[in-house]
Amino acid sequence: MIATRVPTHVDVLIVGGGPVGALLAQRLAATDLSVLVAEARPAPLDDPRALALSWGSRQLLGDAGLWDAQLEATPIQRVHVSQQGTLGRVELTHTEAGLSELGCVVSYGKLAALLRQRLAAGPVPLLENAEVTALRQLEAYAEVQIAHAGQTHSVTARLVVLADGGKLAATLPNLNQHAKPYRQQAILALLTPAIPHDNTAWERFADGGPLALLPCGQQLALVWTQSPEHAAARLALDDAAFLAELNAQLAGRAPKMIAAGPRNSFPLALKTMDQVVGKRLALIGNAAQILHPVAGQGLNLGLRDADTLATLLEHADKAEIGASSQLARYARLRRRDAGAVTYFTDGLVELFRSPFPPLKHARSLGLLALDLCGPARRELARKMVFGSR
Ligand SMILES: Cc1cc2nc3c(=O)[nH]c(=O)nc-3n(C[C@H](O)[C@H](O)[C@H](O)COP(=O)(O)OP(=O)(O)OC[C@H]3O[C@@H](n4cnc5c(N)ncnc54)[C@H](O)[C@@H]3O)c2cc1C
Repeated sequence: MIATRVPTHVDVLIVGGGPVGALLAQRLAATDLSVLVAEARPAPLDDPRALALSWGSRQLLGDAGLWDAQLEATPIQRVHVSQQGTLGRVELTHTEAGLSELGCVVSYGKLAALLRQRLAAGPVPLLENAEVTALRQLEAYAEVQIAHAGQTHSVTARLVVLADGGKLAATLPNLNQHAKPYRQQAILALLTPAIPHDNTAWERFADGGPLALLPCGQQLALVWTQSPEHAAARLALDDAAFLAELNAQLAGRAPKMIAAGPRNSFPLALKTMDQVVGKRLALIGNAAQILHPVAGQGLNLGLRDADTLATLLEHADKAEIGASSQLARYARLRRRDAGAVTYFTDGLVELFRSPFPPLKHARSLGLLALDLCGPARRELARKMVFGSR
């Protein structure tokens, strides 16, 4: 429900009504906890990102009533991984994973719009156009300042959950954020392939950086990682020259692209926190970690953060909400999954970064070996579909 007044105290205050904050809010709607979501944007963001969601994420959203045909999700039934200049490749299929699909692709804009609708229609108060500008952590509660409708409101909560994408966590004195800039940009665009994509996603480790093609309706969504200099030059090309460069990188390993929509770019970095909890504070989603999009794992991981925290809160007595023992439990439960996915994603970026020929050859052999080894391939599919839990 859209909040018309700002409460002075709640059990749980969620900062950010993006995909991860919205899942937590929806789960808490079924409890007797008082909850408030403060969301800075007046309307959901029409973001050009195409998101690859794992089967596990789809289940989490569906179980919370946050899945709908209006998302126009495109199933992924096959993933094809290759490296530029070598023969090595690996293929993962949904039949091998024993699922009807490995995952699916949705647009960030459509997902954000659906979640905002559901939050507005549900019982949890949603304060739109409300930016949390400051946070103070005390023993029994935390206090935030919310800028809303030309005024600053002070709200206290037993637990403040940061689901704000990472901006506030970076400013808090008692939380250490580690940033590893990749000095890379991702170019995003919707492409038209010359032949149907057959619900295949392609991941190609090109010399200048990894390139992903995700099936999105009849089109393919491009996420092309490269140096900022290359990105600036390629953003300035006309469509024909851009497609020629892209098709040269694909080298026949994916269908030829015959048309490209508008291009956007995002800077890429790895950001992790020493701790994902503090006094009366928990971090979820991109507030807890920001990953390179190469393996399409950021939101999948964030949704599992929200799921774990929701499960703890659903089963807790009121007095336990935000207590240090509960927060320590949340941090412990998330450590393995978050650590493994972060390590896997960063490792993939670093492994395929070097153009050094012997290393390139070794990687090619690695991909070939993986393709020949059924159990290893199934394990990779399991990790990509469900995370490392
Ligand atoms: C190019 C690219 C491609 C990607 N592809 C994939 C993919 O294929 N699969 C995948 O799983 N992940 C992918 N990701 C990662 C994914 O987009 C993020 O992990 C995900 O959006 C994080 O969700 P979130 O809700 O934590 O944060 P966000 O989506 O950033 O939402 C945060 C929300 O908090 C609000 N907010 C911010 N500050 C405040 C404040 N002070 N007060 C109140 N509200 C505030 C914002 O308005 C926003 O609505 C990709 C990322 C990029 C950049």
